[in-house]
Amino acid sequence: AKSNGRGRVEIFDAALRAELDARARLEAEIRAGLAGGQFELHYQPVMSVATGRLRSYEALIRWRHPERGMVPPNDFIPTAEESLLICEIGRWVLDTATRQLAAWTRQDPQGHGDVTMAVNISARHLASRTLVDEVRQALHESGVPASRLVLEITETVLLDEPTADAHLGDLRALGVAVSLDDFGTGYTSIGQLQKLQVDTLKIDQSFLRSQEPATQALVQLMVTAAHAFGLDVVAEGVETQEQLDRLVAIGCELAQGYYLGRPRPARDIEISPSAGPQV
Ligand code: C2E
Ligand code: CA
Ligand code: CA
Ligand code: CA
Repeated sequence: AKSNGRGRVEIFDAALRAELDARARLEAEIRAGLAGGQFELHYQPVMSVATGRLRSYEALIRWRHPERGMVPPNDFIPTAEESLLICEIGRWVLDTATRQLAAWTRQDPQGHGDVTMAVNISARHLASRTLVDEVRQALHESGVPASRLVLEITETVLLDEPTADAHLGDLRALGVAVSLDDFGTGYTSIGQLQKLQVDTLKIDQSFLRSQEPATQALVQLMVTAAHAFGLDVVAEGVETQEQLDRLVAIGCELAQGYYLGRPRPARDIEISPSAGPQV
């Protein structure tokens, strides 16, 4: 077959243009969705393994698309992350999640007074100049104290973004906690943990799924090291009693997963005032 350089360029152009068109369309739809109130947050509990007490909620975004139904975050967050749209989404999530925590606390001051709210923050948003002010404002408007907000970030953020690292310092100075998400899937070594500005490690789901003795030894190692550095550890993706038992044996005190509670919209989470202490 005769190859024609010119033809290849045109095919490449067409493919690239189609991709750019699709992305522009999705961005426009996300923008319309934000304006039209199509996004909602689902909340998944993080539980204390030893006491069975609710420690935290993680806010997870969902898009109730008028034609496509419920769209999961992996289908639109990556595109949003390629533009400043992710900052708009992040601001909405921060506002909504802190207000929700304030509402639950009003309904049940006893049971919810020390429950925290974890919000996922993308690298680009953390690097933006405005995040620290947005966090301060969300806390101010909701009345939630900084100590009850947790920002979940992934390790890529920490390694190659000096501005992100500076902003992280500012956020921690506010009193906000920082959690390192998906730990073990990237490049951070256990030794580096000591230097990172984080309070909590979230061990990625893939580690719990593996039955390999070597992987389980690795989880044990991560938990031991994290505790030695004064960090809390959350095991993600707990789906069975057996996995929960293993966590207890390892000494991992916090867990999250379908077995303990699925992400649910606030309207499906019933809060009733807990009984105060018996006098
Ligand atoms: P992530 O932060 O690692 O969130 C955990 C994901 O695992 C969630 O998926 C959750 O529903 C799912 N999950 C929880 N427990 C289990 C379990 O026991 N088994 C299994 N198989 N899965 C479990 P989801 O909600 O689809 O979110 C996917 C990712 O999208 C998140 O991963 C996070 O990276 C991103 N994301 C979600 N919400 C937001 C947001 O508000 N802002 C940003 N920037 N990213 C978000
Ligand atoms: Ca997360
Ligand atoms: Ca995770
Ligand atoms: Ca993730």
